[in-house]
Amino acid sequence: MQFASLGSGSKGNSTLVRTDQTVVMVDCGFSVKDVEQRLARLSLSPANIDAVLVTHEHGDHIKGVAALCRRYDIPVFSSFGTWQSVRNASGVCHTPINLMQSFNIGDLMVEPVAVPHDAREPCQFVFQDRYHRRLGILTDCGHVTDHMISCYQNCHSLLLECNHDLEMLRNGPYPMSLKRRVGGLYGHLNNEQAGDFLNRVAHNGLQHVVITHISEQNNEPELAVHSLARVMTHISTFPVIDQEDGLDWHNILLPDGSNNYEERQTTVFR
Ligand SMILES: [Zn+2]
Ligand SMILES: [Zn+2]
Repeated sequence: MQFASLGSGSKGNSTLVRTDQTVVMVDCGFSVKDVEQRLARLSLSPANIDAVLVTHEHGDHIKGVAALCRRYDIPVFSSFGTWQSVRNASGVCHTPINLMQSFNIGDLMVEPVAVPHDAREPCQFVFQDRYHRRLGILTDCGHVTDHMISCYQNCHSLLLECNHDLEMLRNGPYPMSLKRRVGGLYGHLNNEQAGDFLNRVAHNGLQHVVITHISEQNNEPELAVHSLARVMTHISTFPVIDQEDGLDWHNILLPDGSNNYEERQTTVFR
C-alpha cells in the first residue's frame, strides 16, 4: 500500500491511497484543473481513480469533488449527512456509507471513523490492504475520543492533523470567533492534542507519521514536529505535507520489511 498527497491545509486537501489494484482519493479540495496538474506530479490522471471518499462538506475538502467525479465518472462515497450538504451534485454517482461499518473498494478495506468536527456527519478513514497493512488518516477533529483511539490502533502509517500551536492561535491574526472555532471541541487538533493522540496509538510497527492540515498562520512545522517527536522514539523524521507541493508517494512495508508493491509497480502503472 502507498499514500501521497496533492496538498493539505486550509486552502485544499486531497490524499491518495493505492495498492497495485486500486486507487482511492480522500477528499478533493482543489479545482479540476488543479487536481489534474497535481495528479500528474504523482504520475496519475483522474482516469486512474477508482473512487473518491469525502470526509465532510467543508470547502477545503469538497471543492472539486462533484465536478471531478462527474467529468471522469468516478463514484463518490460519503456519509448521508455530508452528501446532503454538497451542492451541484447532480449526475454524480454517490454511495452513502454507514460510519459504523467498514466496506471495500477493490482490494482496500475502508473503515470510517466518526469524529467531532463542526460539520453535518463528518468522518475520517482507516485503510487496510489484503496484507493487513493499515493506514490511518485523521484531520479535522476538535478533540480526541476513545472511539478514535480504538479505531486507529495498529496503524503502520498515520497522516495526522497538527493544525495549530495553541499559543500562536491565541496571539495570531484570526478574529476571536474564528479562534474559538478552530481551538474549540469541534474545530481542529493542535500540536499538543496530536502528540497525546499519537502517544495513545503508537507502537513499534508504526512506519510513518506524517503531519497534515497544518495552519500557515497559526503553526510552524518545527513546533508540530517537536510535539510528535517527544512521544515517538523510533521514528526520527516527520514529513510535513505542504499546501502547494503535497507529498510524494510513500510505501508502507510489510511487517518483514519487504515491499511486494514495488516490483509490480512498473508493470501495473505504465
Ligand atoms: Zn473541516
Ligand atoms: Zn479541513
